[in-house]
Amino acid sequence: MERIYYVTVGPLRSNSYLLVDGGSSEGVIIDAGDEPSKILGMLKTGVRVRRIIATHGHFDHVLAVDDIREVLGVEFLIHRADQAVLDILPQSTLRILGVSMKPPKPDGYLEDGDVIPLGGSSLRVIHTPGHSPGSSCLLTGKTLFSGDTLFAGSIGRTDIPLADSEKIIESIKSKLYTLPDDTMVYPGHGQWTTIGSEKRTNPFVRV
Ligand SMILES: [Zn+2]
Ligand SMILES: [Zn+2]
Repeated sequence: MERIYYVTVGPLRSNSYLLVDGGSSEGVIIDAGDEPSKILGMLKTGVRVRRIIATHGHFDHVLAVDDIREVLGVEFLIHRADQAVLDILPQSTLRILGVSMKPPKPDGYLEDGDVIPLGGSSLRVIHTPGHSPGSSCLLTGKTLFSGDTLFAGSIGRTDIPLADSEKIIESIKSKLYTLPDDTMVYPGHGQWTTIGSEKRTNPFVRV
């Protein structure tokens, strides 16, 4: 059985998750957007973290990666198509935060269908382009980390560079709404929800 910890970080209040496999105490950090010490504070004694995975490359999901990687010596993975988003991070942080930041360099790239081992368990990569070209959700059992693709009662913005408003709808309909209704959804911002609840009530994507 997995355990899930989270903290909310940075000016855009993004969720940073620590998923821990109960049997092996192996953990993975999903999105490390800001406030590295707060994220590192989630690591309980005995939890071994090997990877940071970003659901996408926006600064509010990756700005703490370099600091955490330096402390833990872990690898940083992201979908290949979001290298383009990382590449424009100096400009996007200058525009929104008023200071130009350096993007973290990925140690490896993810593709749709990749299975990332986590102790006795694993995480499956579901590529859900739209909010960004490489936006991806991560699924383990009936637990989905949805990044900025699907929120409780909302969906990710598409009025931003490299986003695509038609693709996000298609991604949600074909790849997320097809999951079991009782799949728990842990988004990149805001509260948890379930696939069933969003299918019934999300005003942006109706079935
Ligand atoms: Zn985003
Ligand atoms: Zn975000």
